[in-house]
Amino acid sequence: MLRPDEREALVAAALAARERAYAPYSHYHVGAALLLADGTLVTGANVENAVYPLGICAERVAVAKAVSEGRREFRALAVASETGVAPCGACRQTLREFAEHLPILLVDAQGRVVREVDLADLLPYSFSAADLPST
Ligand SMILES: [Zn+2]
Repeated sequence: MLRPDEREALVAAALAARERAYAPYSHYHVGAALLLADGTLVTGANVENAVYPLGICAERVAVAKAVSEGRREFRALAVASETGVAPCGACRQTLREFAEHLPILLVDAQGRVVREVDLADLLPYSFSAADLPST
């Protein structure tokens, strides 16, 4: 369960990260904030490229930042966008690598939580390391 102050901090961090999005092509700015088990926040913003397929979503930037710093225990995620959209399929699978259940706050540009969902509901019957044959 997220405390009210944690929710507030997550939303604020996602909104602030959205301000740092690099989206000169789509002009679609997205920010993400991960709440880690130790209470710290790791943020991400979408980073586009002139070679369009190389663009990376805000959620995966946040995951890569956290994991590359040795932090893999996620408690919650907030994603801020114009209307509060949900993570794309690639981001859902990336998140699933580190959490089966993860509360996700979908935040619009005004900072309203338009929806709160669990990762397991966004990615039912998910594939994970548990599905791989053991060696
Ligand atoms: Zn994505």
